[in-house]
Amino acid sequence: MSFASLGLSAPLLKAVAEQGYDTPSPIQSQAIPAVLEGRDVMAAAQTGTGKTAGFTLPLLERLKEGPRPRPGQVRALVLAPTRELAAQVGESVATYGKHLPMTSTVVFGGVKINPQIAALKRGVDVLVATPGRLLDLHGQKAVSFDSLEVLILDEADRMLDMGFIHDIRRILKVLPAKRQTLMFSATFSDEIRRLAKGLVEDPLEVSVTPRNTAATTVAQWVCPVDKPRKPALLSHLIHEHEWHQVLVFTRTKHGANKLTRYLEGEGIEAAAIHGNKSQNARTKALGGFKSGEIRVLVATDIAARGLDIDQLPQVVNFELPNVAEDYVHRIGRTGRAGASGQAVSLVCHEESKELAGIERLIKQTLKRTPIAGFEPGQAVSSPAPERRGNGGEPRRRPTGERKEDGASAKPRRRRGGRGRRRSSPSGE
Ligand code: AMP
Repeated sequence: MSFASLGLSAPLLKAVAEQGYDTPSPIQSQAIPAVLEGRDVMAAAQTGTGKTAGFTLPLLERLKEGPRPRPGQVRALVLAPTRELAAQVGESVATYGKHLPMTSTVVFGGVKINPQIAALKRGVDVLVATPGRLLDLHGQKAVSFDSLEVLILDEADRMLDMGFIHDIRRILKVLPAKRQTLMFSATFSDEIRRLAKGLVEDPLEVSVTPRNTAATTVAQWVCPVDKPRKPALLSHLIHEHEWHQVLVFTRTKHGANKLTRYLEGEGIEAAAIHGNKSQNARTKALGGFKSGEIRVLVATDIAARGLDIDQLPQVVNFELPNVAEDYVHRIGRTGRAGASGQAVSLVCHEESKELAGIERLIKQTLKRTPIAGFEPGQAVSSPAPERRGNGGEPRRRPTGERKEDGASAKPRRRRGGRGRRRSSPSGE
């Protein structure tokens, strides 16, 4: 199968060839003809499947017919959950549309609104937006959707997870009922199906990754470790294996900052990327990571979603996610497009439940590989750890007296009484 046989015209085929793609990915070969026919599409496809080109190419093909947008008007709207994803989709639109006379722009919060207003005034063919900023702009009458032809929801599941449902419903109210709608989501949960009702009409349903299955090219393993020793173990692994580009996941923004400081203290170049960081700081961190200046990027789930970092060799789950599906998203960051990758999870006793949930979801038992010197001490699972001399084994109890209290090292603000219950692993 070739891109030409899918019904794309020369300017798009040229752009695709320039990207070096010769064969459409499964999502592309299914979605492209359907979108070209004008059908609504509901696709279960994660980042890494080629979904962006899957909707961008046929979208541009359709828009190339028809009149240019009038001032203030938008012909196609792509909604994305995060600034990073919006920026990446915007880049794809520009890349694939390079040989077409079409205009596109990206709008998201956290940056000045005036240049966005100015760009919209002229009218754009494709607008990529995060929901909140789009509503602001619409409220300021900077944009009108009277002549909208196509709506695309990218990573719809993540938009729901991030609480955008009301924003999305408000946006839907101001869009024309007659339009083509494409919806992309990692999974089709009941909630997604509820949202889809009344949004898509007789959609073609496409599913490209077997639901909730982790990519087979990713080697996954678990390092059992006591919670306070996780930062030191991470630093040890980075040095020992000479990892040069590591994406590390923490559960909280605070945890990400703390761990970043710890790693820097260990002489490892690190940067945190999360929702509290300015757009500038995020772009800088991502740029540094891609160029190799920054060795470790510490991210929360939401910030990491949609980051387009090709063939990332190493992902570390410093803490397991609350939601088992996020594990699949996280490790989807590595081993893309057939490249092999490794995903290591540092798991403490308190995370046994989360680990079991993940293993149920991915239908496999992950290999446990204790690291010499970091094996968990019995104290972790014992409700009343007895005080023991420092007899050889570098066991750690959460007494917090050692220096390596990185992201989650301290038994938060609890006085050091024995037999205390461990603080919740959910962080803050
Ligand atoms: P996406 O799932 O849209 O985030 O795309 C994942 C990656 O696959 C991006 O880096 C694309 O540039 C790349 N890609 C998309 N389509 C193809 C294709 N047909 N062949 C090879 N790479 C592709």
